[in-house]
Amino acid sequence: MVIDSTQNIRDFLTRIRNWALANSPWLVHYNSGSCNGCDIEILATLTPRYDLERLGIKLQGSPRHADVLVVTGPVTRQSKERLQRIYEQMPEPKFVVAVGTCSISGGVFHNCYNILGGVDAAIPVDVYIPGCPPRPEAVINGVAMLLKQLQPARAAEIDRLVAEVAGEEIAGTEVEPFDEHAELLGAR
Ligand code: SF4
Repeated sequence: MVIDSTQNIRDFLTRIRNWALANSPWLVHYNSGSCNGCDIEILATLTPRYDLERLGIKLQGSPRHADVLVVTGPVTRQSKERLQRIYEQMPEPKFVVAVGTCSISGGVFHNCYNILGGVDAAIPVDVYIPGCPPRPEAVINGVAMLLKQLQPARAAEIDRLVAEVAGEEIAGTEVEPFDEHAELLGAR
């Protein structure tokens, strides 16, 4: 029997990459037309009061190093192409979290001459976090939903950490499955 060592190494590296992604997803944030209200709430999740990094999450600047794209605001005509370019620059597997009512439907900017709609008018979205703006607890809960999809075996631990970070009331929320990456997640 011939052992394909190249394939074995590739499989091994893929497993390591998926393990690292699931345990410490890196986020990149893009404002596609937000009033900055949602952006302030995202920043609040990184402050010592909430400290999102306790969940293994790191916010950084380059889409080429990011696993999760966090988008705030509606998609404007001007920002659509940039948003798509950032999404395309991210390596697979990648996920998108839309934060705030504007990122879901256009919100208060709906039907403005320069607004195309929510984030899913430009790129696929995995998790929607409603609110205008959503509170830091809601942002953390949305990210926890994504983490639980990535790490189903750690769901109870993530709930415990979320309760620690943001309060008992948002822990244990039911997770809506997102079909787009179901096959990919099933392979983990
Ligand atoms: S959802 Fe509210 S806070 Fe967020 S960008 Fe829209 S108007 Fe601003």
